[in-house]
Amino acid sequence: MKTDIQIAQEAQMKPIKEVAETIGIQEDDLELYGKYKAKLSDELWDQIKDRPDGKLVLVTAINPTPAGEGKTTTSVGLGQAMAKLNKKAVIALREPSLGPCFGIKGGAAGGGYAQVVPMEDLNLHFTGDFHAITSANNLLAAMLDNHIQQGNALQIDPRQVVWKRCLDMNDRSLRNIVVGLGSKMDGMVREDHFVITVASEIMAVLCLANNLQDLKERLGKIIVAYDFSGNPVTADMLQATGAMTALLKDAMKPNLIQTLEHTPAIVHGGPFANIAHGCNSVRATKMALKLGDIAITEAGFGADLGAEKFFDIKCRSSELAPDAVVIVATVRALKYNGGVPKNALAEENLEALEKGIVNLEKHIENIQKYNVPVIVTLNSFVTDTDAENAFIQKFCEERGCEFALSKVWEHGGEGGIELAEKVLQTLETKESHFAPLYSDELTLKEKIETISKEIYGAKGVEYAPAAEKQLAKIEQMGFGNLPVCMAKNQYSLSDDATLLGRPQNFDMHIREVYVNAGAGFVVALTGAVMTMPGLPKVPAANHIDVDASGNITGLF
Ligand code: ADP
Ligand code: MG
Repeated sequence: MKTDIQIAQEAQMKPIKEVAETIGIQEDDLELYGKYKAKLSDELWDQIKDRPDGKLVLVTAINPTPAGEGKTTTSVGLGQAMAKLNKKAVIALREPSLGPCFGIKGGAAGGGYAQVVPMEDLNLHFTGDFHAITSANNLLAAMLDNHIQQGNALQIDPRQVVWKRCLDMNDRSLRNIVVGLGSKMDGMVREDHFVITVASEIMAVLCLANNLQDLKERLGKIIVAYDFSGNPVTADMLQATGAMTALLKDAMKPNLIQTLEHTPAIVHGGPFANIAHGCNSVRATKMALKLGDIAITEAGFGADLGAEKFFDIKCRSSELAPDAVVIVATVRALKYNGGVPKNALAEENLEALEKGIVNLEKHIENIQKYNVPVIVTLNSFVTDTDAENAFIQKFCEERGCEFALSKVWEHGGEGGIELAEKVLQTLETKESHFAPLYSDELTLKEKIETISKEIYGAKGVEYAPAAEKQLAKIEQMGFGNLPVCMAKNQYSLSDDATLLGRPQNFDMHIREVYVNAGAGFVVALTGAVMTMPGLPKVPAANHIDVDASGNITGLF
């Protein structure tokens, strides 16, 4: 089997204007970044915005394991398969971050014969969106420190600065730093921190903004610090909003690329799925719905984090509503959930599968709580056995959801026909009555408890004293009506990453709570959450190279 990058490099791409033509976009509405990438202009949005929407399909998964699930691979493959069935599908995905690309996970362009291309561009600088976000984030940080230096008219308490600098890199040395060392002219000394760009609130803001005006309003509301009396200080108060918006003007425009089979893919934005909502931009999803008959999009991590936030944060604030949900599972991951160690996943083990499938069961039940039809797809690995597949199929069908085996990694669109047919049949015969899990009017605590009990299966919620105080303050500041973004490990339904399967009888522990007033959600931290990852002992970067003709190797 060839590597992902070999397959990607052998692909015969079409000029992006030809791909755009297949969904009725004229060259005039493309802002070309070379031959194979383009941004979709604001004028295009104005032309299409009153069209009826296509159907929205969300791809999500069971809890991630080191065994790999393949949400992006499935999303891309499903789009390719739809095209084989002569359906006009548009894929809407997130942009990869450089951190994981050089770290452990590698890039995020799909895999095997279900990838988007140009893979190297997408995984590296792409069209510069993340650099623009980094710049806007750091402009705000610079203006804040300058404000303190220049007399601090807003009485910002340097001990209560909440805005952090950012960089799109895994660099643990920047987690906790001191800025302003030197002389009087070198700034006020204070402790500072870096987060990875995808964890910046600006990333979440850009992805949730409906248009440039909305972007500007959200940026202005970002809380950067508290003053000596404890009142919030915002980006607007620092007069930073206009300049930040100027930096982000082009980053707001979605990017068009293609799959290995020339299916259009809009790839735009990429917030973290723990401290943020983990979905591509609202603008991109809406464009996909106007340009295609079917829009296929992906949410990060497992359905407990990604899909829940897609529904309760993204859909709530943008009035999007999914028509069907595809849950990706793998035999390997279910066996891992059933206690099989990583190195023994290739062997048939029905007993472990039966034990681990409760994880899938909970995710099926969860999606059904939103009243959206479910299709489970098994992302097929060559080591899976027929008996294992048959067991999972029966399990799903007994629970009222469709089932399809997917071989898109091995065979591209052709391997996804069964899945595409099941999705189409579901869209035609089952109606979605989507509604978010909770209403805006609940208190923040009620929202946290609803998510913990209904989605994670917890018996209760315990709050650290600091979290109690923060919740009271956030309600008193007038943000009690916002949805809650739970920051939890992705591996377990509980807040203990080692509890696999379907944990029972556990409490959730809320450690800290803060408000992202610009993005429009309240973040509840349930454990230590890494917002600036580090590199492993042998980073993927060690193996990346370029030859004399400019061919990149080692990306995956
Ligand atoms: P996710 O979006 O869930 O994080 P990806 O689709 O990015 O997962 O896939 C993660 C990795 O697993 C990729 O490197 C991909 O090539 C690999 N992969 C996905 N599906 C398969 C499969 N069926 N067989 C082998 N490798 C796969
Ligand atoms: Mg992915």
